[in-house]
Amino acid sequence: MLDGNMLPQATKNEKTNRHNDLMEKKKKYVANGVSCLAPIFIEEAKGAILKDINGDSYIDFYGGIGVINAGHCPDSVVDAIKNQAEKLLHSCFMVGMYAPYVELAEKLCRITPGSDDKKAMFVNSGAEAVENAIKIAKSYTKRPSIIAFDGGFHGRTLLTMTLTSKVKPYKHECGPFAPEVYKAPAAYCYRCTYKSKYPECKMACLEHFERFFISEVDPESVAAMIIEPVQGEGGFIVPPKEFLKGLKEICERHGIVFIADEVQSGFARTGKMFACEHFDLVPDLMTMAKGIASGMPLSAVVGKAEIMDAATPGRIGGTYGGNPVACASALATIELMEKEDMSRRAEEVGGQIVSRLKALQQRHPQLGDIRSLGSMVAVELVDDPETRAPLKSAVPVIIEECFKHGLLVMGAGIFGNVIRFLAPLAITDEQLNEGMNIFSEALATTFSS
Ligand code: PLP
Repeated sequence: MLDGNMLPQATKNEKTNRHNDLMEKKKKYVANGVSCLAPIFIEEAKGAILKDINGDSYIDFYGGIGVINAGHCPDSVVDAIKNQAEKLLHSCFMVGMYAPYVELAEKLCRITPGSDDKKAMFVNSGAEAVENAIKIAKSYTKRPSIIAFDGGFHGRTLLTMTLTSKVKPYKHECGPFAPEVYKAPAAYCYRCTYKSKYPECKMACLEHFERFFISEVDPESVAAMIIEPVQGEGGFIVPPKEFLKGLKEICERHGIVFIADEVQSGFARTGKMFACEHFDLVPDLMTMAKGIASGMPLSAVVGKAEIMDAATPGRIGGTYGGNPVACASALATIELMEKEDMSRRAEEVGGQIVSRLKALQQRHPQLGDIRSLGSMVAVELVDDPETRAPLKSAVPVIIEECFKHGLLVMGAGIFGNVIRFLAPLAITDEQLNEGMNIFSEALATTFSS
């Protein structure tokens, strides 16, 4: 994929100088805590291909961390952004309303699971959506506590990092944390908390709640339970259907608001518009962001009208929330996803990646667990498939090898031993194949040395 080498020497030198100059400035002016995986500056992108300022191209298996589901810069989305930008960049919906906000709210209420009357509100990031969903749940129940899950990721603000499970880097040195957050075990069957096996386990992680509500928190004081239907940063962990349905029942029994955090799993990524649909799950509230608007900063809380309306005017929202350009981008993105049946494409993309990974597993026993829901695919690396000891050290080596050969891929997992695949669904079969060839070579190099 590297084609910058084909440039004339003078142009090449100029581009290299620009890259080096930017890298120096980045080191000097950008805060260290903002991590940067690939040492490149991206100039443009289309579909599943990114081009850096040196003229080198990369196949993108990051997808902007699960944002670029509909592909980089789809024509219809770019047109919608341009049209809206020429008319209105900002007015703040809280003081001067505009159509795209209301139209998007209607669209999301229609395409999310459940037949109850629903409402929506918009903010800017996944973390902000989670913060607002919790405020809404607290306003509705008048209760103080929240249940979150081991291995979950919900963001980097005070409340959302409290809900998040991985200490380093996300929480380290950042305490004290928000009060009244209780963590329960998640159904991570490959590393079961109870050292049991599905389905013989009889869902011990669900049974756990009987004790949890005695030893940890009174269910009568719990406002909300928040869970990612498929854990994202946790390593693409797909739970058994009974787990999510069982949690929902527990919530119903105790008047707890069930929040599905679909920030990473939403918008066709898993082979359905929302991952909840795979589990026949109708959450009370959903949080969504990432794939919603092809990269424009936008996030949403969507849920039952009765619950959504519990927060009185002014309690939720924000200056930029539901910006008109971002809403126009989201409307065009969703239209494109529906028109091109990207959920079906997610199944195809995921199926192709999984079958390549399964073939590679025969050669490399270090590929311990291959997990997927649609195109949300991950592989967990282990020292030995029997002991399942996490093999963290190989992940950066594989990522670096892939990068050197023109493929961008990233890690995940609370043990840092997972590689996840988040290719844009606009990827062609040829690009996907080429990306998997590079990945295959990277495994061969890593495990032979
Ligand atoms: N929730 C989930 C499930 C996520 O995957 C993320 C980000 O990766 C967030 C919340 C936080 O989103 P943001 O980084 O936009 O604040």
